[in-house]
Amino acid sequence: MSNMDCIFCKIVKNQIPCYKTYEDNHFLGFLDIKPLSIGNSLLIPKKHYPWVYDVPNFGKYWQVAQKLAITTQKIVKADFISFLTLGLEVPHAHIRIIPRWLNDHHRNKGIDATNIVKISKKQMIKIADKIYKSIK
Ligand SMILES: [Zn+2]
Repeated sequence: MSNMDCIFCKIVKNQIPCYKTYEDNHFLGFLDIKPLSIGNSLLIPKKHYPWVYDVPNFGKYWQVAQKLAITTQKIVKADFISFLTLGLEVPHAHIRIIPRWLNDHHRNKGIDATNIVKISKKQMIKIADKIYKSIK
């Protein structure tokens, strides 16, 4: 099940490249190209489901999100991780895994989804690779 016009389905099918941070038979993690912080991944089901709660193996989905979050936290030495599941940007289920620091540019109150950080391609490759190789 995939949607021809969906950008995330294209990433799953390798039609669009990504900075991969996690992969198994059902889920794919990759760095957000509009990161809200360094190491910000998106975790998606490989099949096209519009909403996070449409994913049949919902529990497993969040277990993978936890694993990716914990590994990412170690790699980038974040104080904590925020999860965001607004579901508004791309109509394919995605959990945003966002490394955070106390008093970071989003402040402690929440997430400023317009506050995108600039990270070089070289750095994106390096971080994605570290997360991908460290995850168990
Ligand atoms: Zn899709």
